[in-house]
Amino acid sequence: MALMAVADALNRVLAGAAPLPAEAAPLAEAHGRVLADDVAARRTQPPANVSAMDGYAVRAADVAVAPSKLKVIGEVAAGHPFEGTVGAGEAARIFTGGVLPPGADTIVIQENATRQGDTVVVTSGAGKGKHVRAEGLDFARGAVLLNKGRRLTDRDLALAAAMNHPSVPVHRRPKLAALATGDELVMPGTSPGFGEIVYSNGYATMALARREGCDVIDLGIVPDRLAETAAAVRRAHDLGADVLVTSGGASVGDYDLVQKALAVEGLELSFWKVALRPGRPMMHGRLGAMHVLGLPGNPVSAYVCAVLFLVPLIRRLAGRTDEEPQREPARLGCDLPANDERADYLRATLAPGPDGIPVATPAAVQDSSMLTPLARADCLLVRAPHAPAAKAGEIGSIIRLGP
Ligand code: AMP
Ligand code: MG
Repeated sequence: MALMAVADALNRVLAGAAPLPAEAAPLAEAHGRVLADDVAARRTQPPANVSAMDGYAVRAADVAVAPSKLKVIGEVAAGHPFEGTVGAGEAARIFTGGVLPPGADTIVIQENATRQGDTVVVTSGAGKGKHVRAEGLDFARGAVLLNKGRRLTDRDLALAAAMNHPSVPVHRRPKLAALATGDELVMPGTSPGFGEIVYSNGYATMALARREGCDVIDLGIVPDRLAETAAAVRRAHDLGADVLVTSGGASVGDYDLVQKALAVEGLELSFWKVALRPGRPMMHGRLGAMHVLGLPGNPVSAYVCAVLFLVPLIRRLAGRTDEEPQREPARLGCDLPANDERADYLRATLAPGPDGIPVATPAAVQDSSMLTPLARADCLLVRAPHAPAAKAGEIGSIIRLGP
């Protein structure tokens, strides 16, 4: 199978993926999720004319000439409406959020009034409607204020609550199972024997998946044996994973059993070689409804492939339409040689540039096993296949890496 271009591979990954079904998410769990339906206001806000200030509810006609003396006939506070009606020559003490009593049409702020027992002297008049928040000022019952497809911001949650929704219809969170393969892998904090290495790549990809809104099932490490690998794949399937992400063993070496195990379980393979660096042995397919991404074992390759393919897949499943990693311009911090047929994603740091465009400087050594430059990198500097040699200061394209 020839190497597939990154864009074609991504198209394949996304072509088979649709937003997951809707569920009602409590507002406290809905931040960043995507609405599966329009949300209409269940009430009018404010539900009545209310005072925006502390002061006195009056008839504008009574305070057209100042000073004017009015009889105080009652008190209104937020949540405690006043039963009576404000007649000519009368006023009601009112506090912010209090419902404007019938008869009154204007608020005189307390700074412009002097209380004397059960009367108040208004020292400075107010035009009709002053400091009154009219019923429906914010929104009216039935108005659709949050549309299907919207990714909910923190402010949207407050709005939905004010619209009287305890929960909102959003696409279900993707459930992602992560599986590492390799006889040489041991858990961090143990005492690795000769030839063993510490399992690392999953910690980055699982954190990335969680940041993108997945529920993550950590299936741990399986040895390079077909039966165990196949059993773990089955487990992911039985647990109802929407996405299975494997790492390592994705090539066709004697100990690369992920493809074979997936084939045994009935994988419909879509591709397993992509024209990129790092990360050529990158596999994709479907096992029933479960999307399968086989990431390379090398931690840097695994992470870069997760940024390029897993993140867009998760976003598509979550209902987002901004699936692809955003590209930004940056100036090259050093000269770069011409590129070969594989797209290159160089780990690079960013510094502010003199003209406002950031300067991206790739790490001197770009080895797909090296975590130090990956951890220090602020971005991936993208080199297209066959990109010609470029000089420091020229404009390139970057993908920023998250926190
Ligand atoms: P593989 O793709 O299985 O051939 O692995 C490629 C390289 O990545 C080998 O040097 C592995 O030891 C290493 N590797 C594989 N899986 C992991 C992992 N989960 N964490 C760290 N390194 C890994
Ligand atoms: Mg391996």
